[in-house]
Amino acid sequence: MAGLNRDAASVAIVVLGPGALDTARRIQPVYSGAQVHGLARRVVGADVAFTELGEHLRALYAAGTPIVALCSAGIVIRAIAPCLANKGAEPPVLAVAEDGSAVVPLVGGLSGVNAMAREIARALDTAPAITTSGELRFGTCLLNPPEGYVLADIEHGKRFVSDLLAGAPTRIEGAAPWLDDAGLPRAPDARLAIRVTSRIARLGEGDDLMIHPRCVVAWVGDASRGDIAERVRLALREHGIAPLSLAVLLAPLRDAASEPLAEAARTLGVPLRFNAEPPTDASERFVSQDIVLAVSERPVDPSTTGRARGKLTVIGLGPGSADLMVPAAKQALAQADDILGYDTYVRMAGPFRDGQRVHGTDNREEMQRARHAFELASEGRRVVVVSSGDPGVFAMAAAVLEALDRAHEEAHAREPAWTSVELDIVPGVSAALATAARAGAPLGHDFCMLSLSDNLKPWSIIETRLRHAAEADLVMAFYNPVSRARPWQLDRALDIVREHRAGATKVVLGRDIGRPGETLVTTTLDALHSDQVDMRTMVIVGSSTTRAFPKDAKSEWVYTPRWYGEKP
Ligand code: SAH
Repeated sequence: MAGLNRDAASVAIVVLGPGALDTARRIQPVYSGAQVHGLARRVVGADVAFTELGEHLRALYAAGTPIVALCSAGIVIRAIAPCLANKGAEPPVLAVAEDGSAVVPLVGGLSGVNAMAREIARALDTAPAITTSGELRFGTCLLNPPEGYVLADIEHGKRFVSDLLAGAPTRIEGAAPWLDDAGLPRAPDARLAIRVTSRIARLGEGDDLMIHPRCVVAWVGDASRGDIAERVRLALREHGIAPLSLAVLLAPLRDAASEPLAEAARTLGVPLRFNAEPPTDASERFVSQDIVLAVSERPVDPSTTGRARGKLTVIGLGPGSADLMVPAAKQALAQADDILGYDTYVRMAGPFRDGQRVHGTDNREEMQRARHAFELASEGRRVVVVSSGDPGVFAMAAAVLEALDRAHEEAHAREPAWTSVELDIVPGVSAALATAARAGAPLGHDFCMLSLSDNLKPWSIIETRLRHAAEADLVMAFYNPVSRARPWQLDRALDIVREHRAGATKVVLGRDIGRPGETLVTTTLDALHSDQVDMRTMVIVGSSTTRAFPKDAKSEWVYTPRWYGEKP
């Protein structure tokens, strides 16, 4: 979003009738995340519907959302007029003719409305109606410096631009490369200066336009000492450095998990990055106790200063289809640098964008995969480990935690790197839940989930659990019911269940639920044959209260009532 502040909310493109939809869709690709808002009773197919224009525009404005309204400038101005008086965030607001023939920036000069007008006009192949005199005269908006620079005081800036418009010349002190080609009235001995500096204004500089480059790194050596934000502010003041020049907070990696440090970065409004030492390439350094201020001449790019705290997210993809994956899992995938998992699941998690590294492995190497994930994350990468269904149900989340738990004990991980990783586990729709939903509600009362695989536990344990679950009249969901290496186990399991439960007990078989070729079969304990089941099947065995009734000619609804015993 070239012309917008980095943290601006995504753009709202507002349309009142179907005639404007085409133009709206042409503007939409210019801003990632932009959504088309349509008047509910007239527009079908908008991303967001609203019922009352004035109210909707005012709500968007108050939330700081950039607004592109495809209607007359008059309507928009009248609608937002009540909000204009109160100072504060002023998001860009533009009116665009329904047919795309005119682009009129209305308010938001300081939040880049003119830049947006140019971008939208380019997309619509027309000319923007720029009316800002300073911008027209000088070819740049002095009050809206590029990324990496901030204006010290906007009100004062407006007076400064008025003075220039009235004929006063100016000179530039410091490096302002973006003004090289601007048509400013310059004079070497001008009274008014544009001062690009990380220093606080000195006496006699009151009329100058102060622009601060974000060129200061504050390295905090000891996060355990009190109020970090306040100590950084004091250090800046002590050395005459403008708080707005602070670009990034840096700290040793051992403090990566420190909440006070994260809180300080939020308070100061800068990113938090990690490095064992303060930067060595700065032109000046100031020390206040454990805080080192490293000041460069040009803006510092936080994304190349030290490194980020590594992040490891364990997600569940759900049973297969994208619509059953939770948004938090999708978001983690979109942000990932590295994706690890069993080949089949990693393939399900795609497609991936350029630059994402995919590490598919054999299913059995869980601990190795978990360690690999921590190693990548402790280098500062954003790592996602994928499981099918839910990651905590017979899947990777437990392996990842076990790897971390063991690392605390084992010698090789005594270094703080693994514990510095931000670990997050995102749930998913487990196969039992997805299968149950297709069949109706067989898990409507107490149930248990059992894996019939004896790869990682003795078969005797499985038999004991089956017996107890059957006796307790729990509905049972069987994961890993059979495999080529475990041909007889399911029959043995069913024998145990049949000892305790009637032959007419409802059984649901869900195969490849949410995937191509999905099948759902409902049958009974008597009629069930193990050759109906393979390793891609979920078996749900009902309790004594599970029942069914016809859904259509071919299938039935299966459910377990909420009550138990006698019908209430
Ligand atoms: N973490 C997964 C389970 C992994 S164990 C989850 O929460 O769903 C693997 C077993 O889950 C398979 O043997 C099968 O019994 C079941 N399973 C996984 N995906 C399935 C699907 N889409 N349809 C039916 N059963 C599935």
